[in-house]
Amino acid sequence: MIVRAGGAGGQVGRVAFGRFAAAVVLVVAIFTGAVFSRRVGAIQLISVADEIAIGKQAQAEVRKETPGLKDAAVQAYISRIGRRLAAQARGARYPYSFSIANYREINAFALPGGPVWVNRGAIEAAKNESQLAGVLAHEIAHISQRHSARQLSNAMVANLGLSLLGALLGNSGGAGAANIAARYVASGAFLEFSRDDEREADRVGAAIMARAGWDAHGMIELMQTIREQQRRDPSSVEVFFSNHPSPGDRIGGLDRVVAKRRTGTRDSAAFQTARGRLKKMPAARSQVESRKSQVEGRR
Ligand SMILES: [Zn+2]
Repeated sequence: MIVRAGGAGGQVGRVAFGRFAAAVVLVVAIFTGAVFSRRVGAIQLISVADEIAIGKQAQAEVRKETPGLKDAAVQAYISRIGRRLAAQARGARYPYSFSIANYREINAFALPGGPVWVNRGAIEAAKNESQLAGVLAHEIAHISQRHSARQLSNAMVANLGLSLLGALLGNSGGAGAANIAARYVASGAFLEFSRDDEREADRVGAAIMARAGWDAHGMIELMQTIREQQRRDPSSVEVFFSNHPSPGDRIGGLDRVVAKRRTGTRDSAAFQTARGRLKKMPAARSQVESRKSQVEGRR
């Protein structure tokens, strides 16, 4: 959108028009954002390519701050399960990757555009392979349904507004916006999805599991395990409860979408071998304690 005019006056006019155009875009974005967020849940301002770029940068940040599990065999096993599930995800072909955090708490999360993290505590809590597949499938569904991208779009319109939109529209272009967005994502501001997104991730995740050949009841069983764990060792599920709906609600939702009849793989020798390896390792760190010390270290 360039207004062609001669001389210095033309320059001023061009800048002013640029600002005017940006303001118009912002107003339109806010307006449509408000309209769409009530109707279909959101406006989508982020392209798949942007999303992948943001996720890559966020992944680099998260890697720096997260103790990875250093066990090639368990890592290879998790990647294999993850890839088999991701192959059944619909929508854009994201470069899915699967990393293990050496934390004791039951938790997992997804970054935009492909990276999935699962805590060692979640692998240890799963009693069979289908329960583990349920954790990964839920996170893959957050990515395939583009929940982060939508959340980021909403945040751009609602909170970050001009600075991020300015970066998108300005000379810095996509790279500048990706930087800002990646820092925002890595800060953890993002790890919380709406209840609707969580329900959708369960529903879509269960379908992915079934298509990939696992018994989708594994997802329900894991919820039951988490509920038991809450009674036995509340601190191990603290993080999970802070960013997910209660297992009771999720079991209710899943009961409606998972077919009554059990089909598909429930367990494998490879899962039990991987779990056995974890049991022999030194105890995992606490995510909650690590976070506290990180915050204190920054003070
Ligand atoms: Zn979730």
